[in-house]
Amino acid sequence: MIEDKNQQRTSIAELGEFGLISHLTQNFKIKQTTTVKAMGDDAAVLDFKNKQTLITTDLLVEGVHFDLSYMPLKHLGYKAVMVNLSDVYAMNGNATQITVSIAVSNRFPLEALEELYEGIHLACETYAVDLVGGDTTSSTKGLLISITAIGEVTKKKAVYRNTAKPNDLLVVTGDLGAAYLGLQVLEREKQVFKVNPNSQPDLTPYTYLVERQLKPEARKDIVKLLKDLEVKPTSMIDISDGLSSEIIHICTQSKVGCNLFEEKIPLDPQVISTCEEFELNSTTIALSGGEDYELLFTISQKDYPKIKANPNLTVIGHITDESEGMNLITRANQKVKLTAQGWNALFNKKED
Ligand code: ADP
Ligand code: MG
Repeated sequence: MIEDKNQQRTSIAELGEFGLISHLTQNFKIKQTTTVKAMGDDAAVLDFKNKQTLITTDLLVEGVHFDLSYMPLKHLGYKAVMVNLSDVYAMNGNATQITVSIAVSNRFPLEALEELYEGIHLACETYAVDLVGGDTTSSTKGLLISITAIGEVTKKKAVYRNTAKPNDLLVVTGDLGAAYLGLQVLEREKQVFKVNPNSQPDLTPYTYLVERQLKPEARKDIVKLLKDLEVKPTSMIDISDGLSSEIIHICTQSKVGCNLFEEKIPLDPQVISTCEEFELNSTTIALSGGEDYELLFTISQKDYPKIKANPNLTVIGHITDESEGMNLITRANQKVKLTAQGWNALFNKKED
């Protein structure tokens, strides 16, 4: 990676700021009709006609949000885009453009930034979004990436967090907890490597987990699926911080309560086996793990027949009156209050 002495290292100072920007962005092609002007002027120009515009931004800081000792730069670039697109899809919208701002120290050669932009480029191609601008500056230490995603949605289609209603069903896409466990596996290998640099980690039992951590996919497919099924969720949010915290956001903002059923939470077999190996409670991990980038939404009961056969969607509970509170119904049929650190309640229970 960056420290690899065999790789070519071209100093970014050699290119100059403008040379660097045009070098990094030369392969990006415009795909969206809403992009009137991309890079090259003082501002990008977009035209959404009669649609509403969605804007969302995230800042990622080396050492806080990512660790380059096990996160390849290409994956980092891809993931940084996914994190933002996920927020657009969580509004039931279509992501159309991004801007990318980076601050880099002289520790990074041109080749490192090329790798980062390869990941950004792959994300733009796969999800049909246009890179339309950004900013480039130096940092004294480390790498910072800030991405802004722009999207569009019709007024009728937009789905907010604060509109869930009692008796609605609580639905989640995909499965949960894998990204967090992937991080635990990578952290463990990093520690082993520090002690014995010749060790060859066997990550085969954890491929899904590591992939979910290093190469998450935003659920653009779900926005299309919901349209095809003719289902408009009554509320929606993406799962970046863990299921528990996201359910609490929906319930608090909608002024409702909920019952979430532990036995319904979708888990990949690798999550179950790795939780056993690490002696972790898989429900705890699904509730608090984070970085899954799945979508959590509520639907009216009348829409249940439309979604029930779909393997991408799992009904995990239902919305109640606010007075009933937010609860996890355990496998033993006990009611536990849902907290932002869902594991508190569960751990206390385990210790009894
Ligand atoms: P300004 O001086 O107007 O801020 P810059 O010199 O920073 O312009 O950038 C020149 C052009 O390149 C602008 O269109 C800007 O949006 C774009 N740009 C700058 N940095 C990046 C980057 N890291 N990725 C993509 N586009 C960039
Ligand atoms: Mg600038």
